[in-house]
Amino acid sequence: MQIPGFRGQVITADDAEYDAARAVWNNTVDRRPRVIARCTGAADVAAAVRHARAHDLEIAVRGGGHNVAGSAVCDDGIVVDLSAMRGVWVDPAGRTAIVQGGALWGDVDHETQAHGLATTGGIVGHTGVGGLTLGGGIGWLMRKHGLTIDNLLAAEVITADGSIVRASADEHGDLFWALRGGGGNFGVVASFQFALHPVGPTVLAGPVFWAADDTSEVLRFYRDFVADAPDELGNIVRLGTVPPLPVIPEDLHYRPAIAVASCFAGAVEDGERAVEALRRFGSPIIDLVGPTPYVDHQGGLDDTVPHGWNYYWKATNLDGMSDGVIDVVADHAYEARSPRSYAAMFHFEGAVARVANDATAYAGRDVPHNIIIDAAWLPEQDAEIGAAETEWARGFLAALEPHRADSVYVNFLDVDDDAGRVRAAYGHGAYQRLAEVKAKYDPDNVFHHNNNILPG
Ligand SMILES: Cc1cc2nc3c(=O)[nH]c(=O)nc-3n(C[C@H](O)[C@H](O)[C@H](O)COP(=O)(O)OP(=O)(O)OC[C@H]3O[C@@H](n4cnc5c(N)ncnc54)[C@H](O)[C@@H]3O)c2cc1C
Repeated sequence: MQIPGFRGQVITADDAEYDAARAVWNNTVDRRPRVIARCTGAADVAAAVRHARAHDLEIAVRGGGHNVAGSAVCDDGIVVDLSAMRGVWVDPAGRTAIVQGGALWGDVDHETQAHGLATTGGIVGHTGVGGLTLGGGIGWLMRKHGLTIDNLLAAEVITADGSIVRASADEHGDLFWALRGGGGNFGVVASFQFALHPVGPTVLAGPVFWAADDTSEVLRFYRDFVADAPDELGNIVRLGTVPPLPVIPEDLHYRPAIAVASCFAGAVEDGERAVEALRRFGSPIIDLVGPTPYVDHQGGLDDTVPHGWNYYWKATNLDGMSDGVIDVVADHAYEARSPRSYAAMFHFEGAVARVANDATAYAGRDVPHNIIIDAAWLPEQDAEIGAAETEWARGFLAALEPHRADSVYVNFLDVDDDAGRVRAAYGHGAYQRLAEVKAKYDPDNVFHHNNNILPG
């Protein structure tokens, strides 16, 4: 198959690489595109979009391939595959970086930390910059430096008619607003420009683990601890089992446990003071907090959620961490059958909450905590385990119903299973505005293989 004006690699079912090229992070996704157009740059992306339009092909856009529902691949259509576009160019004097649309966060951290710089990115290095940024972008640095989109300065976008435009505060301002939270609905981003900040390169970071039986007490303590935390301190709670990482003694592997993991985006000594009370609380079973290269901390969870396992997710924003929330979390978190399943809770506030709600399309800046319930099991395990894990995630979310905030983080939605929640993810006002921008830039809803916003 030929795509006019395309210089990249065209992969079809006849090619030996086809199965590897259509696989994504979640092994349960099994789609067979007619063609995978592996682009080398913006011009290729434009050629692929024009070709798809001319032949009425379904389009999926692949950034890092981490969307849990596999929206990066479609059946029968064309995958605009950005996985060969992973370049990162840092301007250390201007403290900015240009990042190609198929880069992973590990690529960004590697290049920016060579200059002692960073921007808010995902907490797993093999997550894609593309999807994560366009949905908002939450991570360790967000309380100090804002969401990923709060650091987005400009984007090079290929729109539905195949034109290449630049969106920034000064150019296509409506598109720039929508890209910051509205997902892949408005075009394909060939490159992003981000603001960078001095971070590390050594930061105080790491998790403290307590036995699962201590969950209620740890969460009650945590609720007060984060209420007074400085912006530099990013915290995530992880509930499940102790992951079998080489830094953890083997006798603890897979033991049910709650962890509070921290990363202090400031001086190590200030970080020591900020986490002192947390480390002293109760009787931790292991404390791994210490001065750590920021890049290592960013990659520390990579092996706990590898490519090729089976995954299913449910998530919601929470209106707080009341005793009721804590009871539900303690009751459900350890009921999964697979020791690889877990739940995680991000703490927001700080710089995230200081940006006006309508400044970007991202909803939920007023939310203090969220929760993501991650069912994970091995492909070789029988289907019964998968069904049980899926039920666990659904039941856990249902039990949280009385405590859910109105919004949900769109990047934690399952494109298929949660289609009805997209409108709720944004709230009425933002959804309406997004629908208008969609009508202007993609009136035929060409980019619909995503958390879809209908042109309106
Ligand atoms: C292990 C893991 C850890 C995660 N951790 C975090 C985290 O710390 N913080 C956080 O905010 N989120 C996190 N996420 C969620 C993540 O933001 C979403 O899964 C996101 O969709 C991943 O983006 P991607 O480019 O890898 O995905 P893909 O599956 O490649 O893309 C998802 C969708 O995004 C769109 N898209 C991707 N790239 C582009 C592009 N360049 N231009 C236009 N559209 C594009 C497309 O619509 C595509 O369907 C995590 C996910 C996983 C699996």
